[in-house]
Amino acid sequence: MSPSPDSRPAILGGEPLRPNGPPDWPPDDPALRDVLHRAAAERTWGKYHGPFCDALREQIAAWHDSAEVLLCCSGTAAVELALRGLNVGPGEEVILAAYDFKGNFQDILAIGATPVLVDLLPGNWNLDPAALDAAITEKTRAILVSHLHGGIVEMPAVREIADRRGVPIVEDACQMPGARIHGRVAGDWGDVAVHSFGGSKLLSAGRGGAVVTPRAEVAQRIRLYTQRGNDAYPLSELQAALLLPQLAALPARNALRLENAARLSRLLKDRCPGLRPLRNAPSDSQPGYYKFGLQYEPNDFGELPRELFARAVRAEGIAIDPGFRALHQIHSRRRFRAPAPLPQADAADRGILTLHHPVLLESADAIETIVRAVERIRHWSAALLAEPV
Ligand SMILES: *Cc1c(COP(=O)(O)O)cnc(C)c1O
Repeated sequence: MSPSPDSRPAILGGEPLRPNGPPDWPPDDPALRDVLHRAAAERTWGKYHGPFCDALREQIAAWHDSAEVLLCCSGTAAVELALRGLNVGPGEEVILAAYDFKGNFQDILAIGATPVLVDLLPGNWNLDPAALDAAITEKTRAILVSHLHGGIVEMPAVREIADRRGVPIVEDACQMPGARIHGRVAGDWGDVAVHSFGGSKLLSAGRGGAVVTPRAEVAQRIRLYTQRGNDAYPLSELQAALLLPQLAALPARNALRLENAARLSRLLKDRCPGLRPLRNAPSDSQPGYYKFGLQYEPNDFGELPRELFARAVRAEGIAIDPGFRALHQIHSRRRFRAPAPLPQADAADRGILTLHHPVLLESADAIETIVRAVERIRHWSAALLAEPV
């Protein structure tokens, strides 16, 4: 029996609610051992080209209903390659949300283009399509949209704007492989989709990424850029081998994460209303959860600062952290354009917490423990503010 919420929190010397800490990632999966064994036995792991990359490309193409799949060395490289494939260059502009993965901002700078930052939809905390429409100018060469922290961008609205204004979309699905957005797999609303296979991601090869597009000329431009006598941004056979069983397991794992995310949302709504999950418009969509995003309301936690709250919950063995910094808060004004104020991105910068995904593959008890940890810290907020920790 675990300690009750009003027993002393771990950060103040009590017993952690999860003494072994958060679950590790990637999990110890027999299917991964098997495929590693096969790669070693057949010695394909040491080849430049082999069956695993071919199979991975085929399966990603089938999954996406998209002819062209280019495997590469990271999600960050994939975003850069997607922009290069769309022929974005110096002096041109790429629009993205002011709260996004920092590497996306830097990829735009890396190709000599200017990031144009737009605000978020409050409650959803992802790009606001209305802000996007207003930011498009004759210099706009691409729109870069990420689905972050379980919040999905309203892609039908973004697609309509993109078509009407004649600007292509890069859809960053790094946090949501296999999610479905109004009936389409995440990425398929874009002209180009981007995936990451980084060490913490839902599909992990330690490193790696992919660019997916139905547009042959975009894929060809990327090939011309990456092929320099040899592949300059490679994904190896060994990485591809490890991704194949994970791709097969993805639908079932996504379904379990979705179920546990819904359970966690229900429990928090009843018991911890000061921690509000990111909202999606009611729809036929099924978001993915690399992170489970939450808006933190300090006044429901005795004015405990967000960072201290996160530290206290982490001490209980729960992987919760402050979200990204808003891009306009951490970069010089000379680096970007912001055509309108960014009050929602400021609110996200101050208020978002993210729960790391591995716990979402665990039991209902593990989800209950998250809520108990939050209740425990709330119960002890005054002591936490009073005692040096
Ligand atoms: C992780 C991530 C990336 C980049 O992926 P890496 O493989 O780590 O380079 C890009 N965009 C988003 C939204 C991500 O979460």
